[in-house]
Amino acid sequence: MTFDIAVLPGDGIGPEVVGEAVRVLERVAELSGGEVDLRLEAFTVGAGAWRRSGEAIADDVYASCDAADAILMGAAGLPDARHPDGREAGTDVIFRLRFGLDLYAGIRPVRLYPGAPTPLRDAGVGIDYVIVRENVEGLYAGRHGGSRVEGEVAADTSIVTRAGTRRIAETAFGLAEARAEDGRGRPPLVTCVDKANVLASYAFFREVASEVAARHPEVAFEAVYVDAAALYLVQRPATFDVLVAENMFGDILSDLGAGTVGGLGLAPSADVGDAHGLFQAAHGSAPDIAGKGIANPLATILSAGMMLDWLGRRREDHAALRASVWIEDAVGAALRDGSGLTGDLGGTAGTVEAGDAVLRALDAVSAAA
Ligand code: ATP
Repeated sequence: MTFDIAVLPGDGIGPEVVGEAVRVLERVAELSGGEVDLRLEAFTVGAGAWRRSGEAIADDVYASCDAADAILMGAAGLPDARHPDGREAGTDVIFRLRFGLDLYAGIRPVRLYPGAPTPLRDAGVGIDYVIVRENVEGLYAGRHGGSRVEGEVAADTSIVTRAGTRRIAETAFGLAEARAEDGRGRPPLVTCVDKANVLASYAFFREVASEVAARHPEVAFEAVYVDAAALYLVQRPATFDVLVAENMFGDILSDLGAGTVGGLGLAPSADVGDAHGLFQAAHGSAPDIAGKGIANPLATILSAGMMLDWLGRRREDHAALRASVWIEDAVGAALRDGSGLTGDLGGTAGTVEAGDAVLRALDAVSAAA
């Protein structure tokens, strides 16, 4: 099947890590014998584009993203490219796409691969859960709002709607069911993370999520306060399957989760809605290491794998699903034998070497399949 992919390398390490993900995608397309046909087209976005044209994402680029089957992104934003009010200009890209294309679900898998470092030692064994973050409501919905009074008081408003909570909860239950079908070997569980004991909006979030849970009796459901969740994700992370949370809580917990499985260099993510999907690493543009050839490309490569999984499920395309499994297995193999370990993971591979390691592993996993 043919898929049109809009590629947005962006700023900082974005072009470096996307370059490796593109090489991996081109290789799986080749290994599929033409069954997976990816038409990749790159567009300029981010702080660099903003400096040149005053826009972090031009209207025609936005339209191309809207028209594409999926979007693969590096990272956008540089600390010194800012609007007069202090907000980073490059991050307009992700907000415009997230809100414009209604990418309401942030899917953040947290999985500990053998060979990747974890600060948790024994507790790290068996970490394999997904955080489903509500992406367009919650506290961050007020990004362009909020108020200040006389330089003395500031306030933001959190927005939680029934429709928004219902669809994110449905996404979480759908994912738990899909994971169970994929044979994860344990019963499906959705954990609602909130602060229902303090704020009305979170109590409402829990209430709506519980209603959705009642429609999915085959999936176990629990609700946990966010402070307890932060504790449990460190103490007993292997007991979780799918967590669903309001925007800000999902944002924070997914970095915590990434920290337990090797850091941001191994944290992929997907922002998906009913009609569109954007795939990028959870990390930012990392200007401190940009241009040095040392950035870890694995999170972006894993995000590209998630893209094929999403496309494959949507279009019922077996070849895309198989290619996605190859990518995940190849990253696993490159970590296990150490060849894909970059500096942030305690290894010596550079960005391109880590990409090469995944390409070699891809040849092996696809041949064995
Ligand atoms: P943003 O706010 O845009 O998410 P940030 O300022 O929080 O970005 P990052 O750009 O993600 O942060 O970088 C945080 C730290 O993690 C930096 O020290 C950076 O070098 C490191 N880092 C991020 N991504 C990678 C990567 N792919 N490989 C190696 N190190 C990385």
